[in-house]
Amino acid sequence: MNQPDIEAVFVDALQNIAEGVTDLVGFEVAAISVARDDHTLEMVAVAGSSEARDQLLGSRTPIARIERELGSAEAWGDLRFVPHERMSIEVDELSWVPDLELSDDPDVWHPLDLLLAPIRDEQGRLRGLLSVDVPRDRRRPGPGQREQLQRYARQTRRSVLTALERAEFAEQVRLADAARTIVRQVSSELSIGRIIEICQPAVTVGFKAVGMWLQTFDPDSGGADEVYGATDGEIVVPEEFKLLGRKAAGPLWATQEVAVVTDELMPVIAGLDLDADQVARVRDFMATTLEASSMLFVPIGAGQECLGNLALTRRGPSPEWTLVEQQAALEIGHDLGRALVNARTFERERILLEEVRELAGYKSRLITTISHELKNPLTSILGHIEMVESGPDLPDSLSTSISAMGRAADRMRSIIDDLLVLAQVADPETALDPEPVDLAKVVDDVLDLLRVSIDQQELHVVLQAPCTPVCAWGEVDGLFRVCVNLVSNAVKYTPRGGTITTSLAHTPHGIELIVTDTGLGISASDQQHLFQEFFRSNNPAAVAMPGTGLGLSIVHRIVERHRGRIRVSSALGAGTTFVVTLPPAP
Ligand code: ADP
Repeated sequence: MNQPDIEAVFVDALQNIAEGVTDLVGFEVAAISVARDDHTLEMVAVAGSSEARDQLLGSRTPIARIERELGSAEAWGDLRFVPHERMSIEVDELSWVPDLELSDDPDVWHPLDLLLAPIRDEQGRLRGLLSVDVPRDRRRPGPGQREQLQRYARQTRRSVLTALERAEFAEQVRLADAARTIVRQVSSELSIGRIIEICQPAVTVGFKAVGMWLQTFDPDSGGADEVYGATDGEIVVPEEFKLLGRKAAGPLWATQEVAVVTDELMPVIAGLDLDADQVARVRDFMATTLEASSMLFVPIGAGQECLGNLALTRRGPSPEWTLVEQQAALEIGHDLGRALVNARTFERERILLEEVRELAGYKSRLITTISHELKNPLTSILGHIEMVESGPDLPDSLSTSISAMGRAADRMRSIIDDLLVLAQVADPETALDPEPVDLAKVVDDVLDLLRVSIDQQELHVVLQAPCTPVCAWGEVDGLFRVCVNLVSNAVKYTPRGGTITTSLAHTPHGIELIVTDTGLGISASDQQHLFQEFFRSNNPAAVAMPGTGLGLSIVHRIVERHRGRIRVSSALGAGTTFVVTLPPAP
């Protein structure tokens, strides 16, 4: 049942009770009123006189005023009798006064006498009222009639409290729904601006608010926090109120409470003593700038930490913030807290990533500059060595030294070339420019390039590939370099007569390029560092081969750039397998 249905059934039930009172207990008029959100009792059922019904139905009286009246009443068990001579409510506020003859007899019912059965909840709050008027015998009721009336009063109490509980529950469900919608929507949002944008409609509608502000506490600032507003106009929140918001939210979060601020009411918050001027400034800001008559102030947090606050405003005679609303708002404070933590973590990670990227860019720029600077003098050295070597009458002792210098300079050149490639493939600024690359063709070219070394070492080469092209999505130069480095390592680290197998395959994870050899193998501990720059293994047989320790780190970077993966499996003395997985061409 939705709320209007609940209300209709409830009013019917109360009308029946009121009619029972008029029919069976001997009063001409019986009326029942119930508590509403605006701290009034509304008359919802009137039985007996149609004139009374017309005048009373729907009228609201402030609960505080009724409590005052009850204070001066005579207690008749659960009933309260206010003889006309004690009554303080103005006659016109009663709306309806029966037309009865006046008498001096104290036992005769006076038109202004009131007989009431207050309905209180477990906490003693006034939640409803059963009132009767005009006894049929025109006499103030005796014990029998009072007893009968009390029975009806008990029945009324049960009905009123159950119905109010149901209405509260329906309200709770409605607000919880709005809150849940927000949680679902904002939890994946990573910028606070977007969180506000998404929350604002659900929160303002759910809470019947006109304005919503969210203040996030910057842990590094002394209160100069961001305030995100979501109202019709732009409102700048002065520093003074941001500081107050920060001071008030902490203690409220610690005790898991919200605070209501109205024209008349200033909440008492531990550690927050406002002087009269401050109170006046807050009230003035609310009334003139925010144009609000009341504000619900909600702390936002996660775990022990208070991360901000949410302020919701209402304007005009809208009802006060109910307890159910306050509870739901606190839950939203929790949900928003989780979203803020996510957004913050994401922001930190983004900054960190940016720093790492900047560092990587700096590193590759540095390597490129130094390598270029070294390359020119090295080219000149190599040229001169060549000239001297080819000169006539070079003594043997000098010739040996010159060729040693030539080999060393060659090695330096290959290190510099590798460094330049590494810097280029590691530079995050250079975006990938992919196209379909037929890997079978790449493998063929690589084997052609390395043919001389393969033949010199009498290696067997096995090529396994499907008949159809195996196309990866990438850069042909980069993938060629991956293939060259892996196959040339296999050639370099496989003793004479060994076998090198290169296979290509389509798999569910992408295109696979596998290079296997029957060579030296790599120990498990060396495999941990294989892709680090300048790493060379401790295996003396491998160290004896020329190398820079940059080949596999270049391979790794290129594969990463292609959003691929590389794995190695190897055992010392048994050979090595490298598996590269690459995205297929679309
Ligand atoms: P380089 O070969 O220039 O030393 P790499 O980065 O290509 O540098 O390889 C790093 C180290 O990994 C090599 O020094 C070698 O010890 C080991 N390694 C690479 N590939 C193989 C292989 N196929 N078989 C055995 N060891 C290998």
